[in-house]
Amino acid sequence: MVRRLVKKNVRKLKPYQAEEIPCRIKLDANESPFGFDSALKSVEGLETNRYPDPEAKSLRQLVAKSWGVGRENILHGNGSDELIYYLIAVFGGPVLCPVPTFSMYGIIASILNEKSIAVPLDRNFQLDRMRMLTEIRRRKPHLVFLSSPNNPTGNSFDPEVVTDIIRSSRSIVVVDEAYLPFSAKKSFVKLLGKYPNLVIMKTLSKIGLAALRTGFIVSSREIVEEVNKVRLPFNVNALSQAAAVAALQNSGTIRNAVDVIVRERDALFHRLRDLPGVIAFPSDANFILFRVKDADRVYRMLLRRGILVRNISDSIRGCLRVTIGSPEENEFFFKALKKIVQTA
Ligand code: PMP
Repeated sequence: MVRRLVKKNVRKLKPYQAEEIPCRIKLDANESPFGFDSALKSVEGLETNRYPDPEAKSLRQLVAKSWGVGRENILHGNGSDELIYYLIAVFGGPVLCPVPTFSMYGIIASILNEKSIAVPLDRNFQLDRMRMLTEIRRRKPHLVFLSSPNNPTGNSFDPEVVTDIIRSSRSIVVVDEAYLPFSAKKSFVKLLGKYPNLVIMKTLSKIGLAALRTGFIVSSREIVEEVNKVRLPFNVNALSQAAAVAALQNSGTIRNAVDVIVRERDALFHRLRDLPGVIAFPSDANFILFRVKDADRVYRMLLRRGILVRNISDSIRGCLRVTIGSPEENEFFFKALKKIVQTA
């Protein structure tokens, strides 16, 4: 009875499995090992009977300043996931993405009954310039999502190719900079004035504030105003707004934590690269993609030792993705992996 009434495209969907697998060391979700619990002190005294600031003014003001744009160029979301939803609700499909990439672009397109177009990355996980430009010209997508650095491959896309795509397409091009804090590459925010079809997406989730669910788009005033039409009135709650503001006021502490993660990532990459039986791919993000002979076995053996990583082998042959943890966690992971691949 109920099923008959459910929209056809929703009937086919499966719920997103953010399942909780018990483990001692959680290195599967690209979270930071460092939290900012002291920011929670700022929520004391908050009036629980009042709705939050619908426009998240203080939070937007703070991030606008740090990214060198005006507050009117920022829209806030309950995580960037929500903003992907809003962007697809506003601009519709087809939605074009290189693959493999962050799965939510395609999932949300299906939820909203919009077509997605997947264009394979080349063998170095770079954008295939010719193929991307041809598909964009032929299929006329309304939205193009480019995650740079890309999840799950970890590399940044060639900025020249990204710029070429922005310049030569009539689509809205979203550059998702979720992992940019871990990269030495430049943000695309500087190009906003030049390209009216450009949207930059950012999140606080990877830098220690995932629990708060706070993400942003940075773009022209016109795009912000259009997307704001579909935003639910109180989408970022008062606790998150207050805690995010407090954490960001301490930007030095966040920067130090990011620096530790970057140092740890580079050290772990070199150790993985030198480990026989493992091929590690260079990363600009807070995780490393690596290939082993039998990914399912290695995944299971790591989990048996209490270490949870992400098994990516369905989309990239033989590959697992490990998030950079604390120095102790990374050491524990490396030693366990070394043992496992040596007994293969
Ligand atoms: N973009 C990319 C590329 C991601 O990997 C993720 C999280 N896995 C997100 C966006 C979503 O982040 P948020 O927590 O802000 O919804």
